[in-house]
Amino acid sequence: MSVTIDSIAEKILSNDIDKSEALKSFDSLSDYEKNILISKLKFNLSDKGKNAAPADDKPLLKPVSERGLSEDQQKYVDELCAMFEKFAPKSKQNALIHQEYFVDQRKTANLKRGLKNLQYHITYDRGEGAYLYDIDGNRYVDVTGDNGVNLFGHQPERIKKAIVDRASKGFPLVGYTEELFVAAQLFTELTQSERVMFTQSGTEAVMWAVRIARAATGRNKLVIFDGSYHGLSDTVLAARDPEGNSMAMGLGMLQEYADQIIVLEYGAMEGLETIAEHADEIACVLVEPIQSRHPLRQPKEFLKELRKLTLEKDICLIFDEMITGFRVGPRGAQGFYGIKSDMATYGKVPGGGMPTGMIAGMAKYMDYVDGGTWRFDDDSMPKLKRTLVAGTHTRNPLKLAACKAVLEEIKARCGDDLDCKKPDNFYNKLNKTTKDMAEEINAFCREKRVPFTVDYFSSLFKFRGTDDPNGVVKELFIFLLRMNGVETSVSGNFFLNTEHTPEHIRQIIEAVKKSINTLIEKGFYVEPDPAEIEAAKKAAEQKAQRAIKKAGAPKPATAAVPAVSAGNDQLEALKNLILSDLRNATAGGN
Ligand code: PMP
Repeated sequence: MSVTIDSIAEKILSNDIDKSEALKSFDSLSDYEKNILISKLKFNLSDKGKNAAPADDKPLLKPVSERGLSEDQQKYVDELCAMFEKFAPKSKQNALIHQEYFVDQRKTANLKRGLKNLQYHITYDRGEGAYLYDIDGNRYVDVTGDNGVNLFGHQPERIKKAIVDRASKGFPLVGYTEELFVAAQLFTELTQSERVMFTQSGTEAVMWAVRIARAATGRNKLVIFDGSYHGLSDTVLAARDPEGNSMAMGLGMLQEYADQIIVLEYGAMEGLETIAEHADEIACVLVEPIQSRHPLRQPKEFLKELRKLTLEKDICLIFDEMITGFRVGPRGAQGFYGIKSDMATYGKVPGGGMPTGMIAGMAKYMDYVDGGTWRFDDDSMPKLKRTLVAGTHTRNPLKLAACKAVLEEIKARCGDDLDCKKPDNFYNKLNKTTKDMAEEINAFCREKRVPFTVDYFSSLFKFRGTDDPNGVVKELFIFLLRMNGVETSVSGNFFLNTEHTPEHIRQIIEAVKKSINTLIEKGFYVEPDPAEIEAAKKAAEQKAQRAIKKAGAPKPATAAVPAVSAGNDQLEALKNLILSDLRNATAGGN
């Protein structure tokens, strides 16, 4: 796929393409591929892209696979293991001593036989501001972002004080506390939602939102999109087989649950037909609006059409804003796209580090929890039948105190700019820092010809690299980063926060460069075989030709491919439409 995109980008940039062919090629790509193409074009047209040493005349280097390690490479891995053991000995001891009785699936994440000695988890001692400290006394610039929770660094004053103050008053779990009401009121104000409730985790918020949608519509089926993640409830876990059937995802997960789920391709307009066809069975469509696994997928036009269709068919549209909520801005991905969902699920940032989740949305749906807005001071009673949702920690005052403090902090920092329109809004500054950092790293990777790219959205970023299934390069990179003072996480999603200063950003960039240079020096990236390149190019050209043939004449306008009026210089128009899409994305915080 990337070779197809590369070749289209190359042709557009060099003007070496028939104009209508350029449009057809662009049109033949999926939304995801279009976004990658757009970001490539943008990069090449940007100053950083222009300044990067031209690498186009030479192919990208190839990462080595675990199975093909030379003696020297194996020796380096062994040296690294020994170095790492000296670097973090107490963490290693913890990993060894507690392996037997302590259960945690993360221990096995990305585990490689040859690197096992490196892959134990660090035991953290404390977090302060932008830093994490481990029990061996190492200090790291933290980009784990606590899986997306951390927007203000470790121990932000207002949040820490709120938790400590609440703890000093005790934390009664059963009744209401003042924090509950302030947090709930602020939550609805900042997200522009009618009603909100608290849950014990993000997983639970999603699970209950689906239950509420089923209660409200009286239908069973749920639509999700591949590439998304919605937590670990059986309700929302299914994969799509090549024929488009939903399959249970793993051991202990029942096919009966998967049978209730329709999994569609994210951003593909054909999916809307499937939804329309099954409308009278579908309770809700659950969307991760910016997929954390694919932050470049931003199918705005698709989502607008989806919104129209779901309103028309009275299907509940749920945005899972677990990562985007308060990371993109107070209005979340709904604000970014200008689309209002019926319900949205949250957790992470507004939890301030405490375990929690939220569902916010239209009274039409939320009323199925408590029967609606009946009153205690008249003779009204709950109007609706209710579904079941409750939990010991749903109103835990510690988390509500943290939530209230986070929301107050966000409100204070945004001032009168809750829509994040002003360039000096702290969200926009943080997003720009992320973008500049990513682009500098990408320019460096191009110059070094390593197949590594930083994809980013708002202050989330992730490394995308071509590594074969037995590859070790990505894993080694993460460990080199750690030894160069930057801590990432196995989730693969990394985040900047307000405590990252320009010095921290420089430290991150230098650690990335140093780690990649080490991998090159130690022979973990090799020149690709020219025959392989030729074969890949040929296959890509054939695929592009097939796609162009299949696409036929350019389709009528969609947002990704707006109409280009006849008589225009189509190539310029293509570049312009691509760039205007980009400007929209940039204005929205990406
Ligand atoms: N939805 C999304 C989009 C998420 O990213 C996550 C967690 N990463 C969840 C749901 C589940 O949240 P939690 O881990 O709090 O259960």
